[in-house]
Amino acid sequence: MVLEKKNFVIVYDEKESYVPGVIDYLESKTNNIMTFFGLNSLKEKRKIIIFNDLELYKKHIEQFHEYRDYMCADTDDGNINLLSLEEAHKTKEHATMTVDDLKMTILHEFVHICQQECEVEHLEKDVIWFWEALATNLGNSEVFSKVLIKASNEEIEEFINLPQNYCVAFTIGNYLLDNYPSDAIIEYVKYPSKLIADSEKILNEAREWSNVRTMKR
Ligand SMILES: [Zn+2]
Repeated sequence: MVLEKKNFVIVYDEKESYVPGVIDYLESKTNNIMTFFGLNSLKEKRKIIIFNDLELYKKHIEQFHEYRDYMCADTDDGNINLLSLEEAHKTKEHATMTVDDLKMTILHEFVHICQQECEVEHLEKDVIWFWEALATNLGNSEVFSKVLIKASNEEIEEFINLPQNYCVAFTIGNYLLDNYPSDAIIEYVKYPSKLIADSEKILNEAREWSNVRTMKR
């Protein structure tokens, strides 16, 4: 089935009757997120593809990077790709995924779409911790908690292998959004080479902040 909306074209199987509700939720939140990124609209409608075959989804991911069990959604090709609930339930990580979980996941992916739209300079290798820092805070903050950051900057840069990677990114994002003006954050979004120049400083500050905060508790 194809569902057409202002910003999205959604492709899904009719039996996934929960999809329109998930899209309504997404649409109720898109304006706030676009405003953060200084966007009035998307340059063109983005596709939302609901995969109803886990093996096909793995193959899709492997065009871009290694597949891991926790992966159930992505924007690697500029679309929002999501595993259907039924297929997500076949993975260990998402065996009990609910429609509400899916709503939070789609919002997380939408933050990535806005970041793609806002980016001016595109580097070959994205700074993944930064992308996830924004998406976990602006998209699905309900899912993550702040952690004490122990990892070195090098370990954080190796994001896919970092223990508790999304909670670490959430903590860094929390620090950034609380302590840097949004103009400065948007400048990092637009020109990632500026972010790379300041990465050491940001990660050191966020680590220290996470330590102080944890001790106060
Ligand atoms: Zn993400």
